[in-house]
Amino acid sequence: MFSLTKLPRPFLDRGEGIYFYDETGKRYIDGSSGAMVSNIGHSNPRVLAKMKAQMDRSTFGYRLHFRTHASEDLATKIAEMMPEGLDRVFFVSGGSEAVESCIKLARQYALAKGEDSRWKVISRFPSYHGSTLGTLALTGYDPLARPFDPMLRDMPKIAAPRTYLDRDNLTEEERGLKYAELLRDKILEEGPETVAAFIMEPVGGASTGALVAPDSYFKRIREICDEFGILLIFDEVMTGAGRTGKFVASEHYGVIPDIVSMSKGLAAGYAPLGAMVAKGEIVEAVEAHGGFLHGYTYSGNPLACAAGLAVLEEMQEQGIIENAAKMGDLLKARLTALMERYHFIGDVRGKGLLLAFEFVSDRDTMRPLPKEWNAYLELVELAYERGLIIYSRRTRGGSEGDHFLVCPPLIITAKQIDELMAILTEALDAFAANHALPVLE
Ligand code: PMP
Repeated sequence: MFSLTKLPRPFLDRGEGIYFYDETGKRYIDGSSGAMVSNIGHSNPRVLAKMKAQMDRSTFGYRLHFRTHASEDLATKIAEMMPEGLDRVFFVSGGSEAVESCIKLARQYALAKGEDSRWKVISRFPSYHGSTLGTLALTGYDPLARPFDPMLRDMPKIAAPRTYLDRDNLTEEERGLKYAELLRDKILEEGPETVAAFIMEPVGGASTGALVAPDSYFKRIREICDEFGILLIFDEVMTGAGRTGKFVASEHYGVIPDIVSMSKGLAAGYAPLGAMVAKGEIVEAVEAHGGFLHGYTYSGNPLACAAGLAVLEEMQEQGIIENAAKMGDLLKARLTALMERYHFIGDVRGKGLLLAFEFVSDRDTMRPLPKEWNAYLELVELAYERGLIIYSRRTRGGSEGDHFLVCPPLIITAKQIDELMAILTEALDAFAANHALPVLE
């Protein structure tokens, strides 16, 4: 039995590249980029200098009183880096605000088109879309949502492909199509005239442990949304800004959504920043219908936008997204190789540097380890003690299972992957020893 007795954590002294140092001088590899945030690593001097330059001029200017170069230049940069047509940007301070903005834009677009009956946003389980009441209504993770039932207007949900758990004879492509049809069925069940949008994470995040859907899923989802005039929203709060080896994960699939939410890696922890990016025709229709009824005091904050712009410039100048793709392949191969040594690792998955592995008692049935072991906490502690930070959850959405996200900053090198793997292997050995699980040499 394991408990969280080691908390509270030490005080953080400083960050540097992929490392953190606590006040005692102990070093940690940031193997999860915090909460999949610090895409360009810590304390980048060029980013700090650009933020300082902005601070010297102004840290705040209310968006109804002034335009700022920081926010306009960042919007232009994002539009340049986004897939074709996604060129209107609305800034917020975080991921939940970004998703909330997407929901409200989808609803207002329906109103602008005279389709007042459309208000539902179909989402998936498992999923995570944020902690505000609006985004929680989309989130397919009961422990977080159910306590708020009386206050939520829960949205219709379909199962996301958890293909590694499926024991059938379908090909990957057939399985993708099977799961996509669930969207069509749900739209018909709800009534197409009531549905404004469908939202999904293109690669699953913390609630699923980096679940990747078959390629066929994406194309079919797009077709189904088009068939019924429903907007397709990609929640790229975690996957965006290079995390999966492309600027946004939709680029892997050749499918362009109508609206995208981003945050986390966008300002990479240098400032609180998020963005909603939408197709021009959607924003224009809403503007022609009286304007977007939504906004936050800090929308377009110049310091946050200067940080975001500096981060994206750094990504382009240093080839950081290309590095994420390359190092992602390397790290995934190294994690996959662990399956030979530890039979309690049942699955390794993900894209780019959004990677995860999952524990099982038995690979054939994918039965999880005993719940009372609290393996998801124990391994994190064993790694933390040894100077490696990873991220974990005990959930597969509908059922339970311990998964671990390994998502270092996108600047990681091959040598640093060796360091990370050495500590992770020590921690896994210690975990196996604690539970008398076999380790194969
Ligand atoms: N959407 C997704 C896909 C996320 O991963 C998160 C954060 N984990 C959010 C939304 C919410 O972001 P925030 O915590 O910044 O509000």
